[in-house]
Amino acid sequence: MLIVLHPDVTPQAQAAIEGRVRELGFTPHAISGAGRTAIGITGNKGPIDPGHFRELPGVADCIPVTAPYKLVSREVKHDDTVVDVSGVPIGGPEVVVMAGPCAVENEQQILTAARGVAASGASLLRGGAFKPRTSPYDFQGLKQKGLDLLSKARSETGLKIVTEVKDTETLPAVVESADLLQIGARNMQNFSLLEAVGDVRKPVLLKRGMSSTIKELLMAAEYIVARGNYQVMLCERGIRTYETMTRNTLDINAVPVLKALTHLPVLVDPSHGIGLRKHVAAIARAGVAAGADGLIIEVHGDPEHALTDGAQSITPQQFRDMMKAIKRIAAAVDREV
Ligand code: PEP
Ligand code: MN
Repeated sequence: MLIVLHPDVTPQAQAAIEGRVRELGFTPHAISGAGRTAIGITGNKGPIDPGHFRELPGVADCIPVTAPYKLVSREVKHDDTVVDVSGVPIGGPEVVVMAGPCAVENEQQILTAARGVAASGASLLRGGAFKPRTSPYDFQGLKQKGLDLLSKARSETGLKIVTEVKDTETLPAVVESADLLQIGARNMQNFSLLEAVGDVRKPVLLKRGMSSTIKELLMAAEYIVARGNYQVMLCERGIRTYETMTRNTLDINAVPVLKALTHLPVLVDPSHGIGLRKHVAAIARAGVAAGADGLIIEVHGDPEHALTDGAQSITPQQFRDMMKAIKRIAAAVDREV
């Protein structure tokens, strides 16, 4: 249930309403929108009798919430959530671009990529330090050294840092260095990790599992938000289908569907979505046209020799051309880049 408050509700009256929610054994979540403040309720198994709240001072309305992903649903919060990543707003009028290599490999590699993408208008630098790899024999990332190199690239370029959190053990180290915590596709339903990032007060980029439904993605986001971390954005990164010509199939449908169901920002990852360097720009354009709030793109100074995901990494020059095209698409859908 959602308790909509009067616009002129006093802090005391709001505290009393939240107290009543707790007395019933549930958890109140204050949700501020442009036009109204409301209190979402979680922890209830079935419908709640609105009679518990109707007569309390400051209560304007009690609305049942039908979606199982309550706090992330548009039913509970109509206005778009704008996530602040160390001063970069995501989910507002601007389409935000995050770019950089799949993995941090060495100082020269990350700095070259960072300078290149910054010069072309990226706002965040991506780069994995803790890499979840299919084979235990493949490059697993530079770990703490990778985080240090990302921090160095941030100091030099001003780009904010997005990097993957692979497990709860290394979460504190990543929290220390990153501006945005990435939960990868393979961890989308790692519920302990979702709870752990839910307890952190740092923004989270939650990627869709490669065989997860849109509803499962929203329920995973709910795990994070239910713990009090409301700074969450979602990312469509391609799903597994019977198609073998491409690495994954970017589910472009997910963009407008998610935008309708949730107030959280929605990003597109065309690199993992298609897996083929020469087509990344086309899928990036499609993502922006479909209404994505941002893109995350793999860029490498020497993709042929990349230690991870070289086949889908574009060069800084290709990235610059892609950005020019993205600007035109964004203008056509009344957005900016
Ligand atoms: C990545 O961003 O490099 C990555 C591992 O992505 P995903 O979790 O979507 O596979
Ligand atoms: Mn990758």
